[in-house]
Amino acid sequence: MPIKRKHIKYVIAVLLIVIVLLTVNLFMGSYFPPNSKKTLSYNDFIAYMDENQVAEVIAGENVSFLEVRLTASDTLYKVPNPQSPAIYDLILAHDIPLVYETSKSGSAVQLLILIPLLGMAVYFTLKKSKTALIRNAAKNKSAVSLMLNDVAGNTEAKAMVEDMIAFIKDPDKYVNVGAHMPRGILFYGPPGTGKTLMAKAIAGEAGVPFYACSGSDFMQTYVGVGASRVRELFQTAKKSEKAVIFIDEIDAIGKKRGKQPGASHDERDQTLNALLTEMSGFHERDGVVVIAATNRLDTLDEALTRPGRFDRLIEIALPDVNARQKILELHAASKPLDETVDMEALAKSTVSFSGAMLENLLNEAAIFAANENQDRIAQTHIDKAFFTVIAGAEKSDTSFISEQDRKITAYHEAGHALLTRLLLPDSYISKVTIIPSTRGAGGFSLSIPKDTLYMTKQKMLANMKVLLAGRASEEVIFGRDQITTGAGNDIEKVSAHMVDYISAYGMDDEFGIFNSRHLQPSPDADLLTLCRSKINAIYQETKAEVTENLVSLHLLASALLEKESLSGSEIDQILI
Ligand code: ADP
Ligand code: ZN
Repeated sequence: MPIKRKHIKYVIAVLLIVIVLLTVNLFMGSYFPPNSKKTLSYNDFIAYMDENQVAEVIAGENVSFLEVRLTASDTLYKVPNPQSPAIYDLILAHDIPLVYETSKSGSAVQLLILIPLLGMAVYFTLKKSKTALIRNAAKNKSAVSLMLNDVAGNTEAKAMVEDMIAFIKDPDKYVNVGAHMPRGILFYGPPGTGKTLMAKAIAGEAGVPFYACSGSDFMQTYVGVGASRVRELFQTAKKSEKAVIFIDEIDAIGKKRGKQPGASHDERDQTLNALLTEMSGFHERDGVVVIAATNRLDTLDEALTRPGRFDRLIEIALPDVNARQKILELHAASKPLDETVDMEALAKSTVSFSGAMLENLLNEAAIFAANENQDRIAQTHIDKAFFTVIAGAEKSDTSFISEQDRKITAYHEAGHALLTRLLLPDSYISKVTIIPSTRGAGGFSLSIPKDTLYMTKQKMLANMKVLLAGRASEEVIFGRDQITTGAGNDIEKVSAHMVDYISAYGMDDEFGIFNSRHLQPSPDADLLTLCRSKINAIYQETKAEVTENLVSLHLLASALLEKESLSGSEIDQILI
């Protein structure tokens, strides 16, 4: 490893310390008082460090112990040495002098011992300067010049953060009218969709410093390290009064508990608790906002999303065709394209690309162009880049969606939307999309208004038909032999609803009012037969509804194929 110029001063410092110690040792016999008999537990040692009570740490020849001098007394304490580089990292992170002791009498043996120690010292000081660099990069006020305009697409998410920006700028305006703003925002969605970018843009718009770190930075082998890093981060951020703190990969800290039996969760729990404590610790008027991001909302500990914590959840989804075109245009602004490049066509052919992949696509294309000594990027360069980008994407990535699959998904989702509008006219459709979600195929989100206390029999039936409408459309359009596995989830839900409809709510005329759940063994055969015949009967009715409204179904499906996602109001416009 070549020693860089900026490291040299550390090396010299260590050499000097060692030489001084060696000389002192040679001439004066023993320098350190030998009364290092008292022991300190490792935990207490960590606690003292956190409280800035440790004056120095001495690494002796006996590697199983470290000697520790506290600021309060001159006594040396023995602390069990975990013998891992992490402990040295931690000591140096606390800015505690770390000294290497030599043996009591000068001899050749001593020099032999000294050499590896010296090596270690150089190694750790180099390491210190490196980690210090990383830490400074992460924590230094990075003056953000990014604005919301630098984020293309993500329209809904942008609208959802506008008040947070206003709040950071002028917290009093909100606090004075008794408004409680969320302490934290959680961005979730696939990688590369612009979560970090959004967080930076919030800081940029509000004109406050941006402190970024990643959840995995906090996960250390030694209990207590993560927690103390969290406290340090917040302390630094609070110094600048207003700030945006961004924690990427929050799932590293806040994973659901109990997934790996036997594994120790101490470190994670302590880090998580430190984070929650810090978050509840700052004052509302401070204008400090914590933003976390995750690709895995499903694995997140619920403790994180409780009120007063990350209680504003914002989805940052893969861009639809429109957003893709905007992202491409944004990143192409600094790249000369020739007339063979058709942005609209490119946006259409990049289904399932994230913003990061689109940026990467243009960049790879620019590299191909430069390699060929061209001064403008042509479609041929983009075509080549396409494969580079896709090859680099994750295996599970759904970048290859055949035209037929898109069509099937479009009709399937259109079926759900159509029947929702026909049978549940006052329910609210937030979004219908054919962009695959991380959770599974297709995407249909519907929320029934919560202003009714009970569900009527009619509504329950309507709901079940809506669930069956995806499969029904597939069958009506593509034929019985072409139905797909895409309806698996719907079928599971509709079956559960039917069991409840019949046996929990007594809504079926034939079965009447009876709940068989408490009978052991329960006469499930009857229930099973009835459920199946009922579901299949309403499935036939659903198919009939779809067939009667075929024109609307085609309209919805082709709008979905074109735009990839439709809002509730766009659906209404199509269906008038
Ligand atoms: P995430 O945090 O969701 O993994 P990032 O914010 O790190 O994604 O995105 C990586 C890069 O991809 C960004 O720096 C930006 O250049 C580009 N990018 C992603 N989404 C967008 C977007 N919506 N608009 C513009 N650029 C984007
Ligand atoms: Zn479905």
